[in-house]
Amino acid sequence: MDLKPSEVATVLKAEIEGFQGRMQKSSVGTVLMVGDGVARVHGLDDCMMNELLDFGHGVFGVALNLEEDNVGAVLLGSDAAIKEGDTVRTTGRIISVPTGLQLCGRVVDALGRAVDGKGEIKVGPNDLRPIEGRSPTVPERQPVKEPLQTGIKSIDSMIPIGRGQRELIIGDRQTGKTALIIDTFINQKSTGGGDPNHPKQVICIYVAVGQKQSTVKAVVDKLEKYGALPYSIVVSAPASAEASMQFLACYAGASMGERLRDEGRHVVVAYDDLYKQALAYRQVMLLLRRPPGREAFPGDVFNLHSRLLERAAKLSDKRGGGSLTALPVVETQEGDVSAYIPTNVISITDGQIFLESSLFNAGQRPAVNAGISVSRVGGNAQIPAMKKIAGGLRIQLAQFRELAAFAQFGSDLDKATQQALTRGQRMTELLKQPEFGPVPVEEQVVILYAGSSGALDSIPLGRVAEFEKKYLAFVRSTHADLLETLRKERKWTEPVQKRCDEICAKFKAEFTS
Ligand code: ATP
Ligand code: MG
Repeated sequence: MDLKPSEVATVLKAEIEGFQGRMQKSSVGTVLMVGDGVARVHGLDDCMMNELLDFGHGVFGVALNLEEDNVGAVLLGSDAAIKEGDTVRTTGRIISVPTGLQLCGRVVDALGRAVDGKGEIKVGPNDLRPIEGRSPTVPERQPVKEPLQTGIKSIDSMIPIGRGQRELIIGDRQTGKTALIIDTFINQKSTGGGDPNHPKQVICIYVAVGQKQSTVKAVVDKLEKYGALPYSIVVSAPASAEASMQFLACYAGASMGERLRDEGRHVVVAYDDLYKQALAYRQVMLLLRRPPGREAFPGDVFNLHSRLLERAAKLSDKRGGGSLTALPVVETQEGDVSAYIPTNVISITDGQIFLESSLFNAGQRPAVNAGISVSRVGGNAQIPAMKKIAGGLRIQLAQFRELAAFAQFGSDLDKATQQALTRGQRMTELLKQPEFGPVPVEEQVVILYAGSSGALDSIPLGRVAEFEKKYLAFVRSTHADLLETLRKERKWTEPVQKRCDEICAKFKAEFTS
């Protein structure tokens, strides 16, 4: 058989034209059923998963259920104008949101539209990014190694978080979960002076899911008041928004963070909270008739959270070395961590911070239960000085709690036990911290060293907080170079330790006289 080049060329041309025609074809379907924010559409044969569907009347939907003879979609707006028999078009686009630094300082909805009344956000042609994408592969990542300083003593010392890590914040309602996030965001100001354009500035993204609008407003106000808003993005999907918006908001926030991560920046994103996101997803999926499984959640609710959280990463140097740290929040009911959603998210993340109502009510705030909270990245995410000082703190505190429980039964305690109790009480007191007062890591090292070296043992318990405040002020004003050394060199050396001992002894003499 001999081939004529001209014939081959014609066949290829025809094939290419046909292919382009297929690419451009938008398929058209009709609405079979609409209500409760979901719709079933007939006739969209080549519809993609997560594709944006145009329902007309300015309403869009997202295809979530691709079945043999119809497509189940959730609407991204009110379904009031849509009727049975209406025409629906595929758009060929996966649902996307605007990304980039121009979103900093703004409050947006799950589709990235401004909702703070500060005007429209400029979106360039390259700023749109699909809300779901491929998460980095293993060779594209590197181990977590830089600390994400929260400024919270109990966390930075015992449950350190690294850039690129996923650390769950879990606890009952009103235990200070959101407060931990706000403090962490405020503390990031020190990384780049609060200027989002500074290459070292950590960008913070807060995704509020299913909360009251007033609560979200309160968070934004606090970020603004403490100067954290200029480098933060708030994605708000309040309880009043459609259920679709509530579960998509987390992915939108992740995409905004990923864009900056891929540009080599460091980003921390908080999802507050994933329990409410799962409830919104369950609502939509039950309406779309997905079979309910455990606790009536659809079977893929684990995937809902895992595909969100695996987008957190520390990228390899070849990919720019950026990072996306995820701080998901899960609210528990009556401290029940063995419920479906908490166990799922615990198994996905690299550690968890347990907040307890009983500690919170007893005045131990932040109410971190240091005994069961963990960070599986551990000491890699700490500066060497903190690692050295706080290495034994967890065990020390655990022993203290055991002793304290035991000591309730008897009054005759030997000297060693009494001493351990005194030290434990002082350390527990030192780990208390008010809101909006993040402590720089070098100051944390100085004060925690003072506590663990026994300098505070003779200070009355009621005066420990006062001691801490005045001591740090003293070090700041008269020994700023010591803090500078710790900040720059990050190491705990013999001379540094000696100086800390001297300064502390001098201050203590003044304080007690
Ligand atoms: P919800 O379940 O309602 O979202 P939450 O767990 O996010 O609650 P927050 O809203 O952060 O809890 O905090 C609850 C209350 O405790 C707030 O009034 C807050 O001001 C207070 N609070 C939180 N942390 C501290 C702290 N370290 N010191 C003093 N008060 C605190
Ligand atoms: Mg909260």
